[in-house]
Amino acid sequence: MLQGLRPCLLRPGPLQLAGSGRGRGGEEPGGPGLAGTRWRAMADLTLCAFLTKVLCAHGGRMFLQDLRGHVELSEAKLRAVLRRAGPERFLLQEVELRDGPWDAEAEVAAGEGAGAGSGGGATACRVMAVSSARLCARYQRGECQGCDQLHLCRRHMLGKCPHRDCWSTCSLSHDIHTPINVQVLKSRGLFGLNEGQLRILLLQNDPCLFPEVCQMYNKGVDVLYGYCSLKDRCNKFHVCKSFVRGECPFQPCKRSHQLIHAATLKLLEDQELSVSSVVNFQIISVYRHKKLHKMLEEKGRHRWGPPKHM
Ligand SMILES: [Zn+2]
Ligand SMILES: [Zn+2]
Ligand SMILES: [Zn+2]
Ligand SMILES: [Zn+2]
Repeated sequence: MLQGLRPCLLRPGPLQLAGSGRGRGGEEPGGPGLAGTRWRAMADLTLCAFLTKVLCAHGGRMFLQDLRGHVELSEAKLRAVLRRAGPERFLLQEVELRDGPWDAEAEVAAGEGAGAGSGGGATACRVMAVSSARLCARYQRGECQGCDQLHLCRRHMLGKCPHRDCWSTCSLSHDIHTPINVQVLKSRGLFGLNEGQLRILLLQNDPCLFPEVCQMYNKGVDVLYGYCSLKDRCNKFHVCKSFVRGECPFQPCKRSHQLIHAATLKLLEDQELSVSSVVNFQIISVYRHKKLHKMLEEKGRHRWGPPKHM
């Protein structure tokens, strides 16, 4: 996957200039003042698209120091670019490093601590690729001609379209380069991603690509199983469906927000789905949930006190 990237890494161009930092804005190409600011914004746009591409070529999550190996920027400048882009593009977290083989549950837990470093161990900055790009749901039903979301076959993006080998027979597009899709990708600052990289990005951001959530679990008062009569034999995720959609207002919530544990890992394995993508989805969802909760709390404080918990 890396081969496609190598030439960009070596080519001196805007990627290098963006952080070569010649003092303040006024000395940058594009002149002083507003023009300089605009130049930096454009350089950031190109750089962020490239960083998203690198991240997605590496599974959508990397340590800052590894990401740095792909751009000629100092660590401080790379951090500054990522921060300017904001958590809607790159989620940065200090996580504690641990020995031993990679572990899905530990990866999720690493970002949830009260603060990395409290254990006294070495820490590193973890960077996640975040995006607001989504597949258009109405397009899947043949009901949308054009909008600001991606018009792509959902099953194809999951690698499960029955028309995979002869996709001309699928009524939905498998082509990320149709004029509509190119426009959407451009407007979200995602130019240059190939299909595999876009798939990685969507898998960790778009709820519609998340494995099937049990609807029965999400009904009823039973905390453990809801109305699901299959209980432990159920082959769908027993998690809060609002959390998966990024819309759960409750903290704490009586339904599970834990997408990664022994039972779901087993489901992912049985259904040949990517554990790493669900780990990333969980990390990003926890961030989104915290943000939503904070917003609701602030709203509530202004009007009628904090929201009631169920
Ligand atoms: Zn649409
Ligand atoms: Zn298809
Ligand atoms: Zn169930
Ligand atoms: Zn919930």
